[in-house]
Amino acid sequence: MKTLNNFDFNNKKAIIRVDFNVPLDENFNVTDANRIEAAKPTIDAILAQGGSVILMSHLGRPKGAQDKYSLKHILKTTSEILGVPVQFATNCVGPEAQEAAKNLKPGEVLLLENLRFHDEEEAGDVAFAKELASLGDIYVNDAFGTAHRAHASTTIIAQFFPTSKCFGLLLAKEIESLNKVLKNSEKPVTAVLGGSKVSSKITVIENILDKVDHMIIGGGMTFTFVKALGGKVGDSICEDDKQELALEILRLAKEKGVQIHIPIDVVAANDFSNTADTQIVDVREIPDGWQGLDAGPKSLEIFEKVIMESKTILWNGPLGVFEMETFAKGTIALGNYIAASTANGAFSLVGGGDSVAAVKQFGFEDKMSYVSTGGGAMLEMLEGRTLPGIAAILD
Ligand code: AMP
Repeated sequence: MKTLNNFDFNNKKAIIRVDFNVPLDENFNVTDANRIEAAKPTIDAILAQGGSVILMSHLGRPKGAQDKYSLKHILKTTSEILGVPVQFATNCVGPEAQEAAKNLKPGEVLLLENLRFHDEEEAGDVAFAKELASLGDIYVNDAFGTAHRAHASTTIIAQFFPTSKCFGLLLAKEIESLNKVLKNSEKPVTAVLGGSKVSSKITVIENILDKVDHMIIGGGMTFTFVKALGGKVGDSICEDDKQELALEILRLAKEKGVQIHIPIDVVAANDFSNTADTQIVDVREIPDGWQGLDAGPKSLEIFEKVIMESKTILWNGPLGVFEMETFAKGTIALGNYIAASTANGAFSLVGGGDSVAAVKQFGFEDKMSYVSTGGGAMLEMLEGRTLPGIAAILD
């Protein structure tokens, strides 16, 4: 795997695909600069070697060039975080960008205008990618959040740097963390899969059945399994057309020696509301008019034991409707178990979709070994797919 360490950046211009798709308020202030902070180590390392840096990113989903999606809004924050003045080119290609890149001196940073002001970016246009490529000497991809897209700046551009392309520190860390879970994992390995639907997680489940010893299935998915096994799920979310699939997963797990843990009790509510009446019931006996919205105490006891005995833990998806306080307890408890197991020496990776939001909301971020920065990209990696942005560097 080629990383920054494979190159000497002295007097070289690195063109880096970063993910600066940050949230802005109505006055165009950056409200969460995490993604800019996350790219800083890569940028700093290159500048420290005497290189210069050209940053390219998208922001939002503009239709053509729209001022509200201009990366000029993040210029000040980026300069503050990097601790150097950042130059700006009002178009990512064309004479202005060419000139600015040409004049860039060691230690200097240039930010290019939003890549998606050009339709060619998402179309993966080769000529557009070639123009971007002409700005730098070495291509660095540090944008995990878009690594699953075959866009001009994330994938196509790499062909113009046959020997001078590499992963940035952030992207390398994402790949390394995932490999620690799925390839070189220390046993026992446990995957916790929650969220709302079996249908959106099925490929992940199938792919990781070969890599784990335990699988905890929680959240709304629970009820498709329970109903398939003959239980009564009341008004709980349930995909009737996925019941066969649920049974097939259980059969496969048995064949592969994977222990599946499904909640045995749940917090049931008489309404999908934070103020609903609730009761703890056996997961197979949920009365009509009631729906299971969180894992119950007996289930949590079992999950705690499994998590505490695990050496590698993957967490994707909440155990309940964590957005409502009444049904967040299971997800919070699970976060605490994983944090404790991590403190005991286990490796824990959280990623893909909503679990990252839950982890941040409940303050578990620093207690996990690694929290992935790319929702969709991480899900696709968990599904066993090769991401085009990663393949293009490995090529
Ligand atoms: P996903 O995007 O598939 O990871 O699903 C996350 C969503 O699943 C969250 O918004 C949760 O509120 C929801 N969820 C978790 N448990 C349940 C449940 N028992 N019933 C309905 N929705 C749930």
